[in-house]
Amino acid sequence: MRNTARQTRENRTITVDFRSEATYYQLLGDGKAFLECVLAFIMALGFQLTHKATCHGSGCLTRHSHYMRVRLGGITIWRIQCTTCKAVFTVLPHFILRYRQMRPEVARDALLATHGGLSLERCAVLYHLSPMALYRLVCALGHQSLVTVLTRCGLPLPVYFLADEKHSRCLAEKVYLPTIVSGRVIWHLGYTEEASASAFTQSYQALQRATSPQEPAYRVRGILTDGFDSTTKSMRTLFPGARLGNCLRHALNKLPGKLMAIASPVRKALRSQFHTLLCRARQRKSLRVFALGQRLRHFVDHVTTTAGLANGERVRRWFQDKKAGWYAVFTDPQIPVTSTLLDQAHNAIERKLFAMKGFHHPGGSQQAFLTGLAHLYNLVPYQRRAQHASQCGVEVEGGRVPTHDWFLNVQILTSGGFRRTIPHSTT
Ligand SMILES: [Zn+2]
Repeated sequence: MRNTARQTRENRTITVDFRSEATYYQLLGDGKAFLECVLAFIMALGFQLTHKATCHGSGCLTRHSHYMRVRLGGITIWRIQCTTCKAVFTVLPHFILRYRQMRPEVARDALLATHGGLSLERCAVLYHLSPMALYRLVCALGHQSLVTVLTRCGLPLPVYFLADEKHSRCLAEKVYLPTIVSGRVIWHLGYTEEASASAFTQSYQALQRATSPQEPAYRVRGILTDGFDSTTKSMRTLFPGARLGNCLRHALNKLPGKLMAIASPVRKALRSQFHTLLCRARQRKSLRVFALGQRLRHFVDHVTTTAGLANGERVRRWFQDKKAGWYAVFTDPQIPVTSTLLDQAHNAIERKLFAMKGFHHPGGSQQAFLTGLAHLYNLVPYQRRAQHASQCGVEVEGGRVPTHDWFLNVQILTSGGFRRTIPHSTT
């Protein structure tokens, strides 16, 4: 198993849907028909193959060799080679998982249960596989980057997004999951052991590394954070031209904490007045910075009269610190106003990590595992009674998935050999 993994540095596996196992075995006996079927499938997906960089191959593929996979009961796997650049593509029929003995229908059920929050251990009991096999399967999906998979679905790189870190634990140690979300889709889910700006910068940089070869001109215009210092610093470093907004719901929830030693009804009344202020500010389409500044000053005066000088002063300093982030949200209506969708993504991921505590160990493949979970988050359709029933996050955001079958989509999209067809852009 290890040998085959090491054979080629670049993974050029392609998963191909042959409809049925019988069709596959039938085609094995006819090289020309086999190749035609594979090429037709790739065309239908709208993908190209990842040839070597030097190759301007016009899709010239020839049969290369047979390859026996003894481990899977002697199933023959075909490899196809480009006659120009000599790149070799391994054709994996839909009913075989790469380097895995697990049957796809078992993997499908187990992954769905994992995605739903069932622990790896329980999934393993239900589906007769080892928890480690399931863990490794999720990690295997995670070897393909989120940006690669999402752009294969035709999603444009996010110009506006939410960024924040989830605090989690690896055994007794605190760890952080730097996350970038745009709408219903996770674009980055990292793993750091420190909460410093440099650690976060390093993690978030993965997004830039993945996007720059695809779109060197990619620019982020607006980012919403919860205002955590390390997050805003790393965003400024990586996306210098972007507007940085602060989450308004977060602001609203923080206010009561700034008001000390006052009666609860007074605190509640002030919170609700602040809420009204923010709502009105949002409704005014062309609210000038000046007008918002004035309203905030009035509010501080009001706090001082009703809750005393100390509270007024604390709120004033807090406003001073945060208001630039709120202005940003009001100035550019395309910046998300609250980080609710990011919180939802974090909660979903947290449930899974909580359910798999036994697999948290310092030497684990945390990054690959998290990326695998993020793929599932993006590609598993919502349940039947949900708002976006039967659509997955990618589709809700306007992306296209290759087939109607989510698990086949996961297999195809995380196959290393496919490349997005570069559209003939006129812009
Ligand atoms: Zn080639």
